[in-house]
Amino acid sequence: MPERPFLSIVVPAYNEEQNALIVYEAIRNVCRKLSHRFEIIFVDDGSCDGTFDVLAKLHQADPDVKVIRLTRNHGQTAAMDAGFRLAQGRVIVSMDGDLQNDPQDIPRLLAKLHEGYDVVCGWRKARKDTMFSRQIPSIVANWLIAKITGVPIHDNGCSLKAYRADVIKRVALYSELHRFIPALATLTGARIAEIVVTHHARKFGVSKYGLSRVWSVFFDLFLIRMLTGFSQRPAVWFGTLSVPVLCLATGCLVGISMLNVPGVVLPTAALLLYALAGHFVVMGVFGEMVLMAGNYRPESMIAASALRILP
Ligand code: UDP
Ligand code: MG
Repeated sequence: MPERPFLSIVVPAYNEEQNALIVYEAIRNVCRKLSHRFEIIFVDDGSCDGTFDVLAKLHQADPDVKVIRLTRNHGQTAAMDAGFRLAQGRVIVSMDGDLQNDPQDIPRLLAKLHEGYDVVCGWRKARKDTMFSRQIPSIVANWLIAKITGVPIHDNGCSLKAYRADVIKRVALYSELHRFIPALATLTGARIAEIVVTHHARKFGVSKYGLSRVWSVFFDLFLIRMLTGFSQRPAVWFGTLSVPVLCLATGCLVGISMLNVPGVVLPTAALLLYALAGHFVVMGVFGEMVLMAGNYRPESMIAASALRILP
């Protein structure tokens, strides 16, 4: 059995045929200078150019290169998640497949991780992207994310990050949540650090994102707020939501009985509002039940009974 590789580099690539080879060479040159074994996992996210052919050749020539090919374009989060799942290293580094991140920063990320952190995020302090469509929305989004999640990271969107594998493998990644990894990781109790990293302008190929990402970040932010703030007690959150609805419904009843407001509008509104409040309460109870089901872990119960059997 070969010894487990220590370090896994995960690189999502969607239509990056001109970048794949140079990214590989740049990563390999840095990793060969490290004293650890490594693997480079490229995830071809359903590219329709020659990306997969380039990656397949790299895999044939170098056994340290692993290639995952997704069935279609599933998006960067799914591509990163696929790479994290396959990774065998105890430490994982993720970076973009267009050389906008610089592999020369990897040793510094690892050094910071070994200071005792679980996730180390790159901060593209001197970012080489357009000011209005990229940098300004990013500054606003990062400020909002820091305020809402309480995780003071300057650059959540930077893909160059290092993780302890057991931590990142426990983070549920879907939709476009790769931008919220620091906030999601803190849910597992992870310690997060940040270092400034180099950023280059894209030389080949085109960016896969436009201004439309602002909306998805906004909605994901709402989801993250719920996950980080209320996921422990959904009944409390939904219960709180139901209070103003109940007050409104009661207001309608008061209007009908004390002020003698005629018509069917107020009774209908009262009925609908009471139904909505009841709906919120039931949602909260369901949320608690889902949480309870999630906490049911047969393996931990087996361990507990084994402890009782074995002295
Ligand atoms: N990417 C991907 N799937 C997608 C979109 C992007 O795997 O659906 C990869 C892309 O090939 C690149 C990284 O994610 O390696 C970041 O994408 P991009 O460079 O377009 O983002 P930007 O740097 O412009 O924010
Ligand atoms: Mg890029």
